[in-house]
Amino acid sequence: MSKVRLYVEHPLGAGQSVPVNRAQAQYLFTVMRLAPGAAVTLFNGRDGAWSAEIVEAGKRAGELACREQAAHQDAPPDLWLLFAPIKKARTDFIAEKATEMGARRILPVTTDFTNAERVRRDRLQAHAVEAAEQCGGTFVPEVAELAPLAGVLDGWDPSRQLMFCDEALAGSATRPRGAPGPWAVLIGPEGGFSERERARLAAMDAAHPVSLGPRILRADTAAVAALTLWQLTQGDWR
Ligand code: SAM
Repeated sequence: MSKVRLYVEHPLGAGQSVPVNRAQAQYLFTVMRLAPGAAVTLFNGRDGAWSAEIVEAGKRAGELACREQAAHQDAPPDLWLLFAPIKKARTDFIAEKATEMGARRILPVTTDFTNAERVRRDRLQAHAVEAAEQCGGTFVPEVAELAPLAGVLDGWDPSRQLMFCDEALAGSATRPRGAPGPWAVLIGPEGGFSERERARLAAMDAAHPVSLGPRILRADTAAVAALTLWQLTQGDWR
């Protein structure tokens, strides 16, 4: 299997021809200096990974041909990451690391103390794709549109448990506990959670408040730490 891995939107299958767009041509033929006959690994998040051959290589376009399936489609455990967006580069970091850590869905949420006004969903999705390309898997998490936390909690499926990372518990030994099944992790903004949000979460049977250790972590660090803790205790690190 080629080490050059490329995410494409196109369907993949035996003999399938896959067009190369301008950005992909730049990456494959200019940056990686691949020529016709060279192999690449393709995935689209649906059809597994496929070994493909470069058929045409141009400056702005090209063509690939799928040869054989290299891996079946996989998916990480059913874990969502809900987080309040912070500064742009740090929000990008969260999307990238959430993908590497095996989040199945990434949901930016506005909270009472969120500073970031807007989030470019397409930009975060592109970061998730790039992270998936280097991860070696075949899965790309979906990045949802920014939505108010209150609305997300109003429509919450009670069978999905929520690991509520509560900075007020820093220093306590409150670990994630709960049944196997769908889960989500919730990380607050730089200003933490409001009393109103705490009360709302305390009233939810599905919400489990947890500590991420003795120190208050920045939100981006907290997202990675929380996903690590969950994967270790409930997820696919076991
Ligand atoms: N301004 C808040 C304060 O001083 O208490 C800190 C907010 S922290 C920068 C951002 C988010 O990371 C928090 O809302 C929480 O979700 C998470 N977090 C950071 N450290 C944590 C800890 N030790 N335990 C649980 N959650 C933590």
